[in-house]
Amino acid sequence: MLKDCHTVWANCLRVIQAAIGEQSFRTWFLPIAPVALQNNVLIIQVPSTYFYEFLEEHYVEELKRAIHQELGPDGRLEYSIVVDQGNSQNQPRTLNLPTTRKATGPAPVATPAAALATGPMSSSARNVAAAAAAPPQAMLRNPFEASKAVDRHYLHSQLNGSYTFENYIEGDCNRLSRSAGLAVANKPGTTSFNPLMIYGGVGLGKTHLVQAIGNHIKASNSDKFVLYVSAEKFTNQFIESLRANAVQDFANFYLLVDILILDDVQFLSGKDKTQEMFFHIFNHLHQAGKQIVMTSDRPPRDLVGLEDRLLSRFKWGLTADLQSPDFETRMAIIQNKMQQDGIDIPPQVVEYLAHSVNTNVRELEGVLISLVAQSSLNRREIDLEMAKQALRHIIEEVEAEVNIDFIQKTCAEYFSVPLDLLKAKTRKKEVVTARQVAMYFAKEHTSHSLKSIGHHFGGRDHSTVIHSVQTVSDLIDSDKSFRGQIVELRKKFAGK
Ligand code: ADP
Ligand code: MG
Repeated sequence: MLKDCHTVWANCLRVIQAAIGEQSFRTWFLPIAPVALQNNVLIIQVPSTYFYEFLEEHYVEELKRAIHQELGPDGRLEYSIVVDQGNSQNQPRTLNLPTTRKATGPAPVATPAAALATGPMSSSARNVAAAAAAPPQAMLRNPFEASKAVDRHYLHSQLNGSYTFENYIEGDCNRLSRSAGLAVANKPGTTSFNPLMIYGGVGLGKTHLVQAIGNHIKASNSDKFVLYVSAEKFTNQFIESLRANAVQDFANFYLLVDILILDDVQFLSGKDKTQEMFFHIFNHLHQAGKQIVMTSDRPPRDLVGLEDRLLSRFKWGLTADLQSPDFETRMAIIQNKMQQDGIDIPPQVVEYLAHSVNTNVRELEGVLISLVAQSSLNRREIDLEMAKQALRHIIEEVEAEVNIDFIQKTCAEYFSVPLDLLKAKTRKKEVVTARQVAMYFAKEHTSHSLKSIGHHFGGRDHSTVIHSVQTVSDLIDSDKSFRGQIVELRKKFAGK
């Protein structure tokens, strides 16, 4: 029976777990993902170069023994290393390295780019697989040569398995995008969400969501070739294919894809030739019923420098946005992250973080990571004091700007009504006035959507907010003393 990499790795893990401590096992082995098993070479993906070095330094014997037991004396091990976690512009990059200590068996493949390609493929097929797996600079001369001949099972999806729907917290901010993504993941190419375009600001979870779609499809349709590629990498590969006189091969390679995920399409702005190539690939795939998923950091109408014919294609499917998460969603994201990483943080600290870091999820995660690092460096439990210290510079910025809490507090004081009544059902005249004025200033001074403002006022809907803003505007025009009050109040927010 043919073994697959997951079974082999699961068996290796059992051998290793029996040999080392539970804590070390969880730290150093659970984050590893098996990538491929080719020609008796098991390829495992590790999160960083440091990780790779540590394993090689401390656990090579255990690894060696496990591989030996599973794959026999010819079995070998190779690492696929995430050398760059990526950011909004760049997807994570990986590099393939053989074990330096030679687990067992013959010498490993020499060039990193060829490391994935040890299977029974033709050399040109190997090049294609390697090009798909390796960073652009490591691409071989004609990476897409004879791509039609490639067995798709050898192609690397470039997905990061840690991005899943399970750990993608749902909130008002992402409900439509998430459920559209799930629909596409369950029925790629057959829903009306084709293409699916997700847009939203930096760090709001675009890459996570589209990767989750890819991972979900891959898990349930192993015969489908899912490919995740950033628009930047797509562009670089295209330029490389121009240089190598292999444009046709480049196109042929992309036509093999069943689910194409193109991240950060705004990168294609102003790159006419690359756009043209993408346009052709898009049309072919779409006509063939293949699924296309894209992300952008702005809505399609604001994508300056993208050809109209391409933009019009985006409208064929569904465009959905991601908003900044609200307080409750931020709490849930932190709690989920803590659970995932086995971190323990007191509830009041979690609340403090969720309250203070309201920019984007990446920043929230960054703060959590730095807290955990500080706590382990200083051998001190994470407490409120430490969190405040860590957040000093960020909080100053947050406090310097007018937020809804400040507006509510100021208006409640000014009209002498209890703060909590602004969020309650009370319809007393003075409370209603204070509430409407606070909504008016929230609209004027913050970037919250009408829906979000309503949410901060005891879960009122956006039409109530529109009505309040209108009422206040009308009163400013018709009532002189009211106008005076607004002028006074506005001074309290000005310059903040
Ligand atoms: P973008 O591509 O929009 O810049 P990312 O997808 O890279 O953002 O997200 C930044 C970080 O925030 C990632 O680590 C991601 O896992 C995390 N993240 C974003 N949204 C969520 C969410 N709803 N639930 C859990 N984690 C999230
Ligand atoms: Mg991104």
